Amino acid sequence: MTTVLVTGGAGFLGSHLCERLLGAGHRVLCLDNLSTGSRANIEGLTERGRHARTDAGATPAFQFIEHDLINPIKLDAEQVYHLACPASPVHYQSNPVRTVKTNVLGTMNMLGLARRTGARILLASTSEVYGDPKVTPQREDYLGNVNQLGPRACYDEGKRIAETLMVEYHREHNIDTRIARIFNTYGPRMAFDDGRVVSNFVLNALRGDPLQLYGGGRQSRSFCYVDDMVSGLIALMNYDGALKHEPFNLGNPHELSIRELAETVLRLTGSKSAVTDSPALQDDPAHRCPDITRARTELGFRAATALEDGLKATIRDFRARM
Ligand code: UDP
Repeated sequence: MTTVLVTGGAGFLGSHLCERLLGAGHRVLCLDNLSTGSRANIEGLTERGRHARTDAGATPAFQFIEHDLINPIKLDAEQVYHLACPASPVHYQSNPVRTVKTNVLGTMNMLGLARRTGARILLASTSEVYGDPKVTPQREDYLGNVNQLGPRACYDEGKRIAETLMVEYHREHNIDTRIARIFNTYGPRMAFDDGRVVSNFVLNALRGDPLQLYGGGRQSRSFCYVDDMVSGLIALMNYDGALKHEPFNLGNPHELSIRELAETVLRLTGSKSAVTDSPALQDDPAHRCPDITRARTELGFRAATALEDGLKATIRDFRARM
């Protein structure tokens, strides 16, 4: 039984990851400050964790720890999935200094924990390290086009320095690091107030409210279903090949415009909501699409879920929660 620490474990992606790890028989420590995560996301896991005790009086297989990892914490683990940080532009921009602190101090604290315990640590980095990319699709060796003064910088630059910390702790202290660059991910359990495009569109379509296209909707993204992303993260954590300390893009390479996404959501929900134009956001990337050759070749990663299937599951979940 491996003890696995998941920071940001009560968030959207983190809670799906905790669920999978628990199901695979691991002991899961879920750490979250509940800034964008929620107890509701892990409610079922707390119950399941209790039932999964190996013998009477043993430590539960799932434990939730409410903690802000800007502050150090002493825990023992063999693997650390370091996901903690608000990931939606609306949330990470609402308290930018805190976002920087989470990425810098939080990552240093987790690397310190890895150093003390000998744990392997995986950083959830992001496609935002490529900024508003001038080349598409983005390969891992593309150095990006980031505005360090713009409203997204707290997250983009925060994750870039988090990657630097991973690399330097590996070089200096031989920490066993993995770096995942996560592209847009969606699925059941996204918060209604998440603010990202899939949850906004699904929620508004179901409520009969307008779907707003920021800047006309010609910008493109590619959307990965959460189950595929979880498989990719676990595969990377357990990968021991030659590129193990290099960054890996994880995402779905199927690219579409935001307007096309809006039309798809309307069709799948049968909604009569209007589609309206709203002002463009500053520094909003025009295109984003992962080149996943490295993940496919080295990890056998596949973004297997078709967009329509993933959207249908997401819509079912939103309907049930509304
Ligand atoms: N977007 C939109 N309407 C919304 C929310 C987002 O048109 O209600 C656009 C946003 O401007 C961006 C894309 O959808 O170009 C994806 O935005 P999201 O916040 O989901 O993630 P990002 O890829 O920007 O991190």
